[in-house]
Parts: sequence; C-alpha cells; structure tokens
Amino acid sequence: MPYQALLENGVLKMKGDCVGLLQKTANSILLKWQTKIMNIICTNALHLQNRPRDSPVGSILVLNGEIVGEGIEGGKTFKDITFHSEIEAVRNARTLLQTPDLSDCIMYTTHEPCIMCSYVLRHHQIQTIIIGLASGDIGGFSSQYPLLKDENIRKWQKPPAVLFGILEEECRQLSL
Ligand SMILES: [Zn+2]
Repeated sequence: MPYQALLENGVLKMKGDCVGLLQKTANSILLKWQTKIMNIICTNALHLQNRPRDSPVGSILVLNGEIVGEGIEGGKTFKDITFHSEIEAVRNARTLLQTPDLSDCIMYTTHEPCIMCSYVLRHHQIQTIIIGLASGDIGGFSSQYPLLKDENIRKWQKPPAVLFGILEEECRQLSL
C-alpha cells in the first residue's frame, strides 16, 4: 500500500509503508509541501495578470527535488479545455524528460485535479499528488467519479497517494 498522509489539526499523520521514517520527518515533509504549493500560488498570481479570464489554478511536477513541469490554467485564454494546469505540467515534463513514464514525479497542485486531468495523471503513472483545495463535483478524487482512486481499470497501475489540504485557505483565497 502506498503511504497515505492526513492532516489532523495542522499535524501530518502518516499511514502505510515506511511510516516510521516518514512520521519522523513529517514536519519537514509538510514544510516542503507547503513551500511548493506557496511557490505555485505566487507564480500563479503573476501569470494571472496575462490570463484574467482563467481560473487561478496552478500545478507543478517535481522529480528528485527539481521542477520538471509546470502549468497554469489557460482553457479560456486559448479556447481549449485541455489547457488545464495539470495537463500543461504533464506536457512540459514529457517534453523535458522525453518519456511518458512520470511515476517518479510528485504533482503539487493548488486544486484537486478534475476528471479529465485525473485520467491524464493516471495514464502517466504519477504516484503522489499533493493538493490544496477540493474541486467539488468535477474533482477526480472527492466527487462521485473518483478516477484517482479507482483500482479496477486493469490498464492502470495502482492508484496514487493523494493528500488534500496543504495551504487550503491560501488556495481558496486565490479564487476570491
Ligand atoms: Zn483539469
């Protein structure tokens, strides 16, 4: 079982494989995740000046501590729904890494990936997804179409470890 992480009153609790080691380093992991999400929020704020009609959603893919892909929402700007930030980050990473296998990458994203993006993330075997804010009816994890959790699609490998709630309030503020 991949590890799972839960935020309880601001404290990160780990379950699953390697729990001992992870729990010992939980605070530094939490800080790292928060830093990554905060970086996206700041970058997003700058980009949004050029894409005022698009939702303030941003995503990055990280491999061995380095950003290998990044994206911000551009569906309205480009009149193309596939310009969601997660898909942009995947396109970016595929160009850089020259492989469809992104299983060693961690995705950080301000909002829960939608159903469309969840398909793309599962296809590329991304195994860890760190999320700020849930996306309601169109979310790929918390809605009634939880593609990110599904274990029954034989083509796909195991579902990713997913963590919600990192800087949730800050991500919500983006949309106000
Ligand atoms: Zn999406």
